[in-house]
Amino acid sequence: MGDLLSRLPEVEGKYTENRAMDTLSWLRTGGPAEILFQPAHMADLATFMKGLPDDIPVLPIGVCSNMIIRDGGIKGVVIRLGRGFNGFEVMTNGNIRAGAAALDAQVAKKAADEGFDLAFLRTIPGSIGGAIKMNAGCYGVYIADAFVSATAVTRTGKIVTLKPEDMDFSYRHSALPDDTMIVQCVLKAPTGEPKMIHQKMEDALARRAESQPTKERSCGSTFRNPAGFSSTGQADDVHDLKAWKVIEDAGLRGERLGGAQMSEMHPNFLINTGDATSADLENLGELVRKKVAQNSGITLEWEIRRVGEKSST
Ligand SMILES: Cc1cc2nc3c(=O)[nH]c(=O)nc-3n(C[C@H](O)[C@H](O)[C@H](O)COP(=O)(O)OP(=O)(O)OC[C@H]3O[C@@H](n4cnc5c(N)ncnc54)[C@H](O)[C@@H]3O)c2cc1C
Repeated sequence: MGDLLSRLPEVEGKYTENRAMDTLSWLRTGGPAEILFQPAHMADLATFMKGLPDDIPVLPIGVCSNMIIRDGGIKGVVIRLGRGFNGFEVMTNGNIRAGAAALDAQVAKKAADEGFDLAFLRTIPGSIGGAIKMNAGCYGVYIADAFVSATAVTRTGKIVTLKPEDMDFSYRHSALPDDTMIVQCVLKAPTGEPKMIHQKMEDALARRAESQPTKERSCGSTFRNPAGFSSTGQADDVHDLKAWKVIEDAGLRGERLGGAQMSEMHPNFLINTGDATSADLENLGELVRKKVAQNSGITLEWEIRRVGEKSST
């Protein structure tokens, strides 16, 4: 790709060459980004996208809590939103406007202070942008339930407003193109007593800590819950089988490969025990998929995104 930096448009934000990504990644693994771009503001991001040659790939990231960045690093430009994109505001119509870089937990806490119940976001470690892309949710509530609209910058530099019908939300999925970046969104939430909502969030945190390895380095659920089977044996899309159970049934609770492990506490959590590489983590995940398929005929699908290049060494 030649000297990539010299081919990038002039911007107000910051380009960093060969930026280490392991320190930004939740799993603390992975190779560098060829370029990391941190836009100064939305128009700056639009200028960047518009002026970027077509052959240079972009990857929006949040806080990488659902991503294995491969050891060979990421070609092209990784875009990460900084401080200017983490606003929070209750609008006059009672909806909430939040920046895409705001952390889910912070948005949940600020909303609760104002008497709005977005408690489901409290225990999800990602950013609002990542939550929208992934339709993040827990305990039966998803970002799709709160989503009113989002402002995004497309790969061609257009600033667009996305409505629910543009998103096609489903289980851990949205139709947002991989190279379109969300910059902010509007959410609606039920109202309630701030004290009760804060208590609800404390209860959810305690519930998580009882059943999930919340102190380990993981990306949460590794695999999507598999679609179930109807009484006629036809596959359906209910996702009522639990990935952890089919992993457990294949005898893979606690399975290790290098520094990677399927958690003893929750077999669908892939953890970095300390010195894992991204290859350890991905290869263990693939091993689990293979053994589960042999044991039960079920094909597990990754929920964690794997991005970048495999290391040649
Ligand atoms: C301990 C733990 C528990 C978890 N529990 C849950 C849970 O209960 N429910 C759940 O749904 N998830 C859970 N997760 C997974 C993860 O937190 C969510 O998927 C989260 O929404 C990812 O957000 P992120 O900012 O980290 O996104 P990243 O991991 O950085 O990116 C994920 C995807 O979103 C895209 N993306 C990120 N930001 C933007 C943006 N601004 N615009 C466009 N695309 C963007 C990326 O390109 C990528 O495709 C858990 C993770 C951990 C570590």
